[in-house]
Amino acid sequence: MTQKTLHKRHSDLANSNRQLQILSNGIFLSGELPKFKDKISETGQFPLKARQLEILQINVGYMCNQVCEHCHVDAGPDRKEIMTRETMQHCLDVIKTTGAHTLDLTGGAPEMNPNFRWFVEEASKVGIKDFIVRSNLTIMRSNKSYHDLPDFFKSYNIHVVSSMPHWTKGKTDKQRGTGVFDKSIKALQELNAIGYGMPNSTLRLDLVYNPTGAFLPGNQAALEKEFKKALLEDFGIHFHNLFAITNLPISRFLDYLIASDNYEDYMYALVEAFNPVAVQNVMCTNTLSVSWDGYLYDCDFNQMLELPVNSKVKHISEYNEALLEGRNIVISQHCYGCTAGAGSSCQGSVA
Ligand code: SF4
Ligand code: SF4
Repeated sequence: MTQKTLHKRHSDLANSNRQLQILSNGIFLSGELPKFKDKISETGQFPLKARQLEILQINVGYMCNQVCEHCHVDAGPDRKEIMTRETMQHCLDVIKTTGAHTLDLTGGAPEMNPNFRWFVEEASKVGIKDFIVRSNLTIMRSNKSYHDLPDFFKSYNIHVVSSMPHWTKGKTDKQRGTGVFDKSIKALQELNAIGYGMPNSTLRLDLVYNPTGAFLPGNQAALEKEFKKALLEDFGIHFHNLFAITNLPISRFLDYLIASDNYEDYMYALVEAFNPVAVQNVMCTNTLSVSWDGYLYDCDFNQMLELPVNSKVKHISEYNEALLEGRNIVISQHCYGCTAGAGSSCQGSVA
């Protein structure tokens, strides 16, 4: 199945204001379901505050070789928003001074930014403890110029984190597009061949699971076991950890929920599964997200909803870690996706 981005379809959901309207109206306006702010107020957790920065997540562009059904970025080949070298330079200045221990590059397919390799080389010189690239795997097989990506990652000791919604072809291709499963398997085998994901290897390879429909993820540890067994038995593939992530009701997943008439049921499921313990560790409390044009957000989801940080500091060029710490996090009903069940973040469960 081949999708088109919301932008390409000229969908009204390509407009973040329209998404925010949907998330604030209907069942939330009528009081049928409590707003996220009221829900966390019940347990004395409003306002949510940013603690010390630990993870700097940089989105280097929305261009992607895939158009996955659930994508919260609305990424695809037609998206032209790409971080410039000038903005990357601002990011490098920050990486040199930040107290964050993790640098997390995401996209789109971050590798498609023409300055991606330069940026990785420069950023790796700073010696940040955990340097993550979120790779969709298929990019490594998409054309010859990307075939050496596994070796490139290895030479900079990059921690590769990749999406894999299921260990079967049918479910994976349904969510991510025809042919994605086969290419992903090949890329994983290539990563394994140079040491990535192997038992006791320091070359980290983690997978991200997210549900292929309008339901919440199961237990992360149990899913990891099933994935490991199936991928090893069927394809000889090893990986380290599996992160189970809840699909947030924004962008293309919101579009899918509405089109399949699942939006209200899904929001009910998220609210019913609300876990106050997960609120303490939602990723916005220790993460800062930088957009392709250098603006700062509490997380990648807020970036896509164009909800900037609540701070005097708005752009990476005026970065000030002390001023950003302690800011009030900007929230809306999509945040229920981070606090359902065991919670959800870019590193999987949080509770
Ligand atoms: S989910 Fe990832 S791989 Fe899929 S379209 Fe979005 S950015 Fe690309
Ligand atoms: S969506 Fe973003 S702001 Fe909301 S709880 Fe999750 S990480 Fe925090």
